[in-house]
Amino acid sequence: MQTIQNYINGTFEDPLSGDWLDNYCPANGEVYGKIPNSDQADVDKAYEAAKTAFPEWSETTLDHRSRLLLKIADLIETNLQRFAEAESQDNGKPVNLAKSIDIPRAASNFRFFAHAITQFSSESHESVGLNAINFTLRQPIGVVGCISPWNLPLYLFTWKIAPALAAGNCVIAKPSEITPLTAFLLSELCTEAGLPKGVLNIVHGLGKTTGQAIIEHPGIKAISFTGGTTTGAHIARTAAPLFKKLSLELGGKNPNIIFADCDYDAMLETTLRSSFSNQGQICLCGSRIFVETSIYEKFKADFVSKVKVLKVGHPSESGTNIGALVSQSHLEKVMTYIEEAPQEGGKILCGGHAVSVKGFENGYYLEPTVIEVATDTCKINQEEVFGPVVTIMPFETEDQVLDMANKVKYGLSATLWTNDLKRTMRLSKKLEAGIIWVNTWMLRDLRTPFGGMKSSGVGREGGFEALRFFTEAKNICIKY
Ligand code: NDP
Repeated sequence: MQTIQNYINGTFEDPLSGDWLDNYCPANGEVYGKIPNSDQADVDKAYEAAKTAFPEWSETTLDHRSRLLLKIADLIETNLQRFAEAESQDNGKPVNLAKSIDIPRAASNFRFFAHAITQFSSESHESVGLNAINFTLRQPIGVVGCISPWNLPLYLFTWKIAPALAAGNCVIAKPSEITPLTAFLLSELCTEAGLPKGVLNIVHGLGKTTGQAIIEHPGIKAISFTGGTTTGAHIARTAAPLFKKLSLELGGKNPNIIFADCDYDAMLETTLRSSFSNQGQICLCGSRIFVETSIYEKFKADFVSKVKVLKVGHPSESGTNIGALVSQSHLEKVMTYIEEAPQEGGKILCGGHAVSVKGFENGYYLEPTVIEVATDTCKINQEEVFGPVVTIMPFETEDQVLDMANKVKYGLSATLWTNDLKRTMRLSKKLEAGIIWVNTWMLRDLRTPFGGMKSSGVGREGGFEALRFFTEAKNICIKY
């Protein structure tokens, strides 16, 4: 039995209340560990530790902070296999995926912000004729909160805490209670790397108690949150009267728009990935596929035949393409969308059933599913399913597909397949999404801004945007 503990003031601690939660393995449905069911008292304790650590940490040199973060990055890489197995055990994703994407990216997050902080600059302006010079100080905010979801556990957790620490803040972080294991393992590495006590505090527990205590805490001045849109709206309502700085990275219902002039083979391979990577549980997945009429029937046949041979299996088996969904309740939610789709004219072209994997019959497995929809406004085309389910439908004109692509409440990302540069520019400007991929998907350069429009969020992370978020800009005007 794996026991996960809170990491407060550099030490591992049981929850003050003595309450624990079960931690399930999605691949076999069994409880394999327990995690603290922390409450406000634990968050208060973490806050005191962070507040005490802040004056010294915020005054450390950039070189010192940078070296520490690089050390953490190195340690993550040294522990790649262990972390990948833990992530897979906790989340249900294939070990190979965790090994090639999630864990390396967690190391890159630390490495990137270790370097970025040394290049982060601020403005200065001479007020000509007034004998004054203005310059901007970028100061750490103080104690900040980082709350992350279960789909890319360590990847998104570190995407928040690395820039927060680099900028000189002290952090109280909460991973999703469904996937706490790699955040717990990370705390061991932080101690090993020599991170001073109290600089990073990890408090485990439920969103409605632990998370709520973080967002309500008057001393926590900024919240970086990634998760669902409903939770994001709740956080915004709670934080507004407390005047907290907020970064909200929320859900997506992203269009994948395919024109007949695209590089077909590359499109097909990438569309398979953008549809079903991580069991479709990525906010950036292209879950609404629109295909130009002239190639629609060919695409439909080719795509479905490729989807049918994807292997649903135990996450640690080599050759598994689709692992387990994260929880029983999530599997049930995704199934409900599939079952309801035919009521609005949806036709299931392949998949649509829960799968029993031999030897792991209680795991949460689902066939990758393709649904041909009759209209872009049906429920499954409008709401975030967050599973291995995509819809497809044809389009005739650029205007028509643009209208359908934008006609959702979300605006996180969009993918465009075309070799027409003018069309690329026309559509890229008009698509309502924070990230547009053209002839690719999920190609990330960590220097670029990342975030959504509309119900997909507020603010941008990535590169200097993250460092701007985690600092206060103070202008100093000197008359000479
Ligand atoms: P949730 O919004 O349910 O949870 C996200 C985190 O917030 C979890 O740690 C959760 O804890 C916590 N939380 C829940 N309620 C509160 C609260 N009242 N106060 C503070 N914290 C709270 O999202 P999921 O974990 O289900 O993640 C899936 C969602 O995340 C999808 O909608 C997906 O699109 C989105 N997402 C967005 C990304 C982006 O960059 N835009 C990237 C990845 C995912 P607990 O687990 O205990 O409920």
